[in-house]
Amino acid sequence: MALLEVEHLKKYFPSPRGVVHAVDDVTFSIEKGKTMGLVGESGCGKSTLGRTIIHLLESTDGTIRFEGEDVTHPNKQRMRKLREDMQIIFQDPYSSLNPRLTIQETIMEPLKLSGRFDAASLPKEADRLMDLAGIEKRFRTSYPHELDGGRRQRVGIARALALMPKFIVCDEPVSALDVSIQAQILNLLMDLQEEYGLTYIFVTHDLSVVRHISTDICVMYLGQMVETCPTKELFNYPLHPYTKALLSAILTVDIHKKNERILLKGEINSPINPKPGCRFAQRCPYATEECRQPVPLHEIRPGHFVACCHAKEINQL
Ligand code: SF4
Repeated sequence: MALLEVEHLKKYFPSPRGVVHAVDDVTFSIEKGKTMGLVGESGCGKSTLGRTIIHLLESTDGTIRFEGEDVTHPNKQRMRKLREDMQIIFQDPYSSLNPRLTIQETIMEPLKLSGRFDAASLPKEADRLMDLAGIEKRFRTSYPHELDGGRRQRVGIARALALMPKFIVCDEPVSALDVSIQAQILNLLMDLQEEYGLTYIFVTHDLSVVRHISTDICVMYLGQMVETCPTKELFNYPLHPYTKALLSAILTVDIHKKNERILLKGEINSPINPKPGCRFAQRCPYATEECRQPVPLHEIRPGHFVACCHAKEINQL
C-alpha cells in the first residue's frame, strides 16, 4: 500500500516578473519502506516538492494523501500529528542546528515539545537517539561548531528520528560532506530504514548517490516530472532525452559502457509563466512542432512513465 500519494501537486510563487511554477502538476506515490529519489538540476523544484509534501510550504493546488487520508489542508490537531510522522533532514546541518544548544539539548528539543516524555527520561532518550545515529556520548555537551560535518549530520538525523516518524524527506543530506563521510551517512540512513521501516524521499542532484539509495526515481525538469520508474530500470533504459543526458555524464566514467556524453545546448526555459508544451524543447535535439502541445507522463515500458511525445521513436520501441 502506498504510504504517500501526491496528485497534481502545484507550488507557485509570485515574483515581480510573474508567477514562478516551481512545482507544476506532479503526481506520484511511494510505498511504505521504499525510497523515492528526486533528481534534476538545481532549481528544478525537487526541494520545493519535498518541502510542500511535508507542509513546510503551503501547496497551491493538488492533493497529498498520507496513509490513505487526504492531508492537503490539515487542521491544527492533524498538523501536530503530521509533524511527528513526517520529518526532514537538511543539506546543511550547521545552519539547521541552533548554535546555542548543546548536542544533547538539540536532540531533547523535539522530545520536550511533544510532551510525551517527563523531564527525568529526556537525557536517557537523547542518549538512545545518539546511539542510533552513531554519535559518541562524549559529544553530549559539545556545541554544533565543535563537531565535524559528518557528526553534525548525524545530529540532524538523531533529531529527525526523535519522534519515530514514518516518512522523512532527505534534502541533499550528503551534498556538503566529503565522499568518505557520504558513504557512512548513506549506510546509516539505509540501516535505519531497514530497522524501522522508514519511507524516504531522497532529494539530490547526484545520480551516483541516488542509484545507491533509491528503490524508485523521479526525474524533474523545470517543476515537472519527466520520467519515473524503478531505479534499475532507469539506469538500464533511460527513455527521456533529458534523463539520457544526465546519465551520460556519469556512465562515461564506466569503462564497460561506451556511451557518449551528451552535452545539452540551449538556454534553460524560465519557470516564470512557462508556455504550454514540453519545457525541455529548447534544449532537446529531437524537438518538433508536436512538442509544443502539453506532454503528459505515459507508460512506455511496464512501470516506466515518460513525458515525451517522441519517446518510442527516439528509443526505437
Ligand atoms: Fe524532446 Fe519533444 Fe520529447 Fe520534449 S517532447 S523531450 S522536446 S522530443
